[in-house]
Amino acid sequence: MNKFQGPKGSVVLTWMAVLWCWTNVSAYPWIPLPAHHRYLNTTMPVPGSGLQVDYRMRDWQVQAESWLQEIQQLSFSWNAGPPLRIRVDSLGPEDAVNLMELGITTDWQWDEAYVLVLAEGTATLRAQSPKGLFYATRTLIQMLESDSIRATGSLPAVMVWDFPRFAWRGMHLDVARHFWEPDKIQQYLSWMARYKMNVFHWHLTDDQGWRLEIPEFPGLTKVSAWRSATLRGRPVDVEDSLLYRHQQHGGYYTEAEVRALVRYADSLGIRVVPEIEMPGHARAALAAYPALSCRADSQGVPGHWGVFEDVFCAGNEATLEFLTQVLDHVCRIFPDSVVHLGGDECPKTRWEACPLCQQRMRSLDLPDAHALQSWFMSRMIQHLASQGKSAIGWDEILEGGLPEGAAVMSWRGTEGGKAAARAGHSVVMSPGKPCYLDHYQHDGPEEPLAIGGMNRLEDVYTYEPVPDDLEPGAVMWIQGAQGNVWTEYMTSWDKVEYMVMPRMTALAEVLWSPALNRTVGRGRTFEHYRDRLRCHAGWMARQGLHFAPHGWDPTLLPERPSN
Ligand SMILES: [Zn+2]
Repeated sequence: MNKFQGPKGSVVLTWMAVLWCWTNVSAYPWIPLPAHHRYLNTTMPVPGSGLQVDYRMRDWQVQAESWLQEIQQLSFSWNAGPPLRIRVDSLGPEDAVNLMELGITTDWQWDEAYVLVLAEGTATLRAQSPKGLFYATRTLIQMLESDSIRATGSLPAVMVWDFPRFAWRGMHLDVARHFWEPDKIQQYLSWMARYKMNVFHWHLTDDQGWRLEIPEFPGLTKVSAWRSATLRGRPVDVEDSLLYRHQQHGGYYTEAEVRALVRYADSLGIRVVPEIEMPGHARAALAAYPALSCRADSQGVPGHWGVFEDVFCAGNEATLEFLTQVLDHVCRIFPDSVVHLGGDECPKTRWEACPLCQQRMRSLDLPDAHALQSWFMSRMIQHLASQGKSAIGWDEILEGGLPEGAAVMSWRGTEGGKAAARAGHSVVMSPGKPCYLDHYQHDGPEEPLAIGGMNRLEDVYTYEPVPDDLEPGAVMWIQGAQGNVWTEYMTSWDKVEYMVMPRMTALAEVLWSPALNRTVGRGRTFEHYRDRLRCHAGWMARQGLHFAPHGWDPTLLPERPSN
């Protein structure tokens, strides 16, 4: 009904982009750009169909076969030439010296590093671990599918030395405001892997929906996962029922679905970090279990957006017991060592008036309700620690002190991130500007409705996750950054595609490639990135993605819905 209609001109746009690509790009249009590469001044003919693989590292064969199958599927069936030879090997001493000279400093970088040589009919892929090999295959796929290269009939011989700049190359997805079926999550993960992103932050719970099956609490899937109405526009008057779509919306992931998605992500080198929001953004859970709130009154799952006063009661021991049981289940089904505990936007109105919360504050001698939140988060963080897991939370969790080992996701600008890094906590940067991919990307009147803000493709591309004024000793705590995709105004998957693509590809390059001002040789300017992006239009079109075209030519605006 209100479904976002994809750009009608996208097919035309794609062909314009591909044509442009044929005539203007003579080099491989990689995104993200490798740390270093060198063309060898020779070419080799485009190979024929099929692959001949020589495994010098037998241990990796099982994993590598599925990755290489994707390359096989790109086979040049129209070409009668000999098949591409692929040699899979470990890094040699000379590779190690080269990679160190290019700036590898940490173990995790070695883990993801690779060397790729394409020459004389053979692609040699060398890595320290299967992860590095996986990234080598991603790079090779982008080379073999390149429309510009295929059109010339020959492949430039090249050497690539590559490794990521940041350990946390994250993408978040809000499945609470709008629920997405597992096949959509799988698609999202596949886009991430193509662009070498490696952390999927799964925002599973919020006021408007609880999306994770917890066997001990069936109310979460019977009640909390569903809402009867959804606000259509901005929340100007949430009481006006005419502004709502009166249609049930919801859904949840079963344990089997979660396990399958986590396995799929793992096969693509992606960690899955689940988020269970607390103590705020809890209205959906409280709809099924009202006794866990301060007033214990029954309210439904809200169909509008905002910050709600009803939150988990910090004084009621049953509430803490509920949350620890939920976390125990989360720890069982998510293998990653990190769990996101939310911690943002928790009004203290109910706690101030609640006898149990007040009693808790007196018994712990806490000065105010902010200290109560700090105590609440610490208790949950300690519980995770007892399960061998560590916590990350939005930057509000810094207020009132943070236990050792907990990490901070800085969303209210970068101040929280800087303070956390200076205090020796790991930090993931995701400031609203420019990491919120639910903000507008263009100011044309035909843009579909977004929550507000303006994060253009160029803003995302030129983002630097390490703040200029951060002391050198604190820089090591910046783990990376993340694009956040809140879905209040994304009522269809087409619109998610439109908001994420191509801005995710810009962030991918920020997080993988050398910093803007440290690029060796050609590239790593916005203009060069935009030229390479044009060459990815063919892939996006083949995927049926409703991508935003502003990236390569702002004058080519397709028709938009008038929501
Ligand atoms: Zn309370």
